Amino acid sequence: MKRKLKISIATLLSLTLFAVTLSGCDKKESNETTENKVETTAGDLSESETETEEVVGKVAHPQIEYSYATKEEGIEYLISNDGYYDRFTQNDLDYKAQKIGANMEEYTEFAKEQVLDFTEEQKQAIDEIMNYIEVRLEEEGLTFPEIEPIVLISTTQKEECEPAAYTHGTHIFFNAEYMANPGTGIYAKLLMTHEIFHCITRSNPEFRKEMYKLIHFTVQDEEFEIPPSVLEYYITNPDVEHHNSYATFTINGEKIDCFTAMITTKHFENEGESFLDYMTTALVPIDGSDVYYLPEDASDFYDVFGNNTGYVIDPEECMADNFSYAVIYGIDGPQGQGYESPEIIKGIIYYLK
Ligand SMILES: [Zn+2]
Repeated sequence: MKRKLKISIATLLSLTLFAVTLSGCDKKESNETTENKVETTAGDLSESETETEEVVGKVAHPQIEYSYATKEEGIEYLISNDGYYDRFTQNDLDYKAQKIGANMEEYTEFAKEQVLDFTEEQKQAIDEIMNYIEVRLEEEGLTFPEIEPIVLISTTQKEECEPAAYTHGTHIFFNAEYMANPGTGIYAKLLMTHEIFHCITRSNPEFRKEMYKLIHFTVQDEEFEIPPSVLEYYITNPDVEHHNSYATFTINGEKIDCFTAMITTKHFENEGESFLDYMTTALVPIDGSDVYYLPEDASDFYDVFGNNTGYVIDPEECMADNFSYAVIYGIDGPQGQGYESPEIIKGIIYYLK
């Protein structure tokens, strides 16, 4: 799952101004202006970029096989994700159906109405994005782990409170009008690569393990149980299928092994509220106790996650962002500026070489 970047020159300029010094959620919130609050993503320096590079030519041997779903196929794919809906909390239903006390039937009906057909123009623009990613892989000599064919599905994204995109299995759901808009520039390529990362981790557990290790997370076989106090505010993220990785955080001077969960800071109250505006990371001790901590409670929160992205609600999301930077920008970073935590990017490139 990934937030939208507002497509306007004013926002791009204002982002460029503050993105350079930004690295974390806390800093982001204090610097964000009202104008760009909703649609911009964290302090990701990369997303402030406007695109200058033109890619010509197609690669001879593409690594990613993909196809476009029709509206009917898209609806089938969307509602077939039983395991995902089984994990829904009331907090999920209320936010995602935009109604206090919503039930699963109401939500499913609403979600089905959001699926769309692609236009030929959108397909053409998205083909160019996919080709750009292929060209980058060829230029850098990178090889993706094996990946099953990807299916692209267009929806309004309202079924998930309007992020820019999200995934189930190797299906990538996104707002095609937004993705195909030339104004998204380099962000569309980063976004698509971010989503592809989720598709890769699902079919390559070893790859997932190695990627999480780069930000100090250990993947174990067994899933952690989410305690009641966390479930109360829990939001099910389609991109995060597992809670089976943990890292050590320093909380009140004590080292505590925690897994992460996405929660909201409040319940849904009024129509128009998106959980994306109220989400934060819960650090949940793996010892089974019914407590959780917030990022600000851990003195070494960003030492664990690194400083390349502020999108750190889960190791899966943090690494999806880092992966997109490694592929699209390479080791030199956007405009040759490098990274605040270059070791993470180096680790990804080393793995893909
Ligand atoms: Zn994601």
